[in-house]
Amino acid sequence: MAGAAESSERGRSPEIRKDVIFNRWIIFSPARSRRPTDFKSKSSNDNSNPNPSSSYSSSCPFCMGNEHLCAPEIFRVPTPDASSSTSDWKVRVIENLFPALAHIRDNQQIENPNPSNSAPTVACAIQGLGFHNVVIETPDHAVRLSDLSPPEIGEVILAHGKRILQIAEDRLMKYVQVFKNHGASAGASLSHSHSQIMGLPFIPPTVSARLDSMKDYFGATGECGLCAIRSEELLIDESAHFFSIVPYAASFPFEIWIVPRTHYSHFHELDDEKAVDLGRLLKVMLMKLSRQLNDPPFNFMIHTSPFPVTDYQLSYSHWFLQIIPQLTGIGGFELGSGSYINPVFPEDAAKVLREVNVPT
Ligand code: AMP
Ligand code: ZN
Ligand code: ZN
Repeated sequence: MAGAAESSERGRSPEIRKDVIFNRWIIFSPARSRRPTDFKSKSSNDNSNPNPSSSYSSSCPFCMGNEHLCAPEIFRVPTPDASSSTSDWKVRVIENLFPALAHIRDNQQIENPNPSNSAPTVACAIQGLGFHNVVIETPDHAVRLSDLSPPEIGEVILAHGKRILQIAEDRLMKYVQVFKNHGASAGASLSHSHSQIMGLPFIPPTVSARLDSMKDYFGATGECGLCAIRSEELLIDESAHFFSIVPYAASFPFEIWIVPRTHYSHFHELDDEKAVDLGRLLKVMLMKLSRQLNDPPFNFMIHTSPFPVTDYQLSYSHWFLQIIPQLTGIGGFELGSGSYINPVFPEDAAKVLREVNVPT
């Protein structure tokens, strides 16, 4: 019989279990329930910063001056020199104090490095190892991502890319998910502007489904499905290196994709110039959503390619950034079917977003 110490230890350690019915991997992480929240309830007015006029909150771990409240720093921007003080930074990439996955330590023995090769069983599990980091996008408590200048947003984007490259060096890692939660009903627990990076030892099902679908399209047409987009009706805006659209079959009302004009498979290949250009277009899209939809909670996700990839996989996979304003909740139909009902036609949403002008 397992002793109390063993069962409480099992309760603490993250584990990734395979659901053999739906063919997907689920992360079990008890530590997640202990994370703090400064959103008391998910009210309809949960979208904005609760204290927007104050640049500093003594209880916020992400504020400049409160670095000691945070989990260890991985790197900061700008890179510090000998004269830098603890609080001398614009962007910080830190460990998550309540990681969904246990961080991989140097020289750690991994018992089951390839989940795909595990023997079929209803109790299939691997160690819950990976990376879970936080990117603090500004030292200022009152500043939102869309308040930053395009070069400043570019620095945040480059920090995402740099960290992906570091995580990709670990042979266990299969995919890195970058995402941002803004507002409590978009999943945020802290209001200070931040995004997150998770390094995963498996390829998530939506990534596999996306890549399979892009592969099928490429096989049938000889063209990448994102390079093939030419619709004027769905276009919102464009820049030197990117265009933004409401996708033809958007799952959510006012969903936006920002897509590189040139075929690139991996987000982390982005150079400085393209990062600033993306920063400008992302800022414009967030401001348009805010202006037209009354500052909604939102998520953004970077959809990139797994690693390693073959040359053939590179030919059909094209990275993009997806923004989803949280306007309607996810209900039983969506949870049960994995399908979505979108009440707004993409052409109409694109027109609403295209026609509003925002200052940059
Ligand atoms: P979100 O829940 O999307 O607002 O993301 C905030 C993240 O910050 C959560 O994943 C928390 O686990 C994490 N977090 C909370 N407090 C700290 C802290 N002091 N240091 C590092 N990460 C933290
Ligand atoms: Zn703060
Ligand atoms: Zn392409």
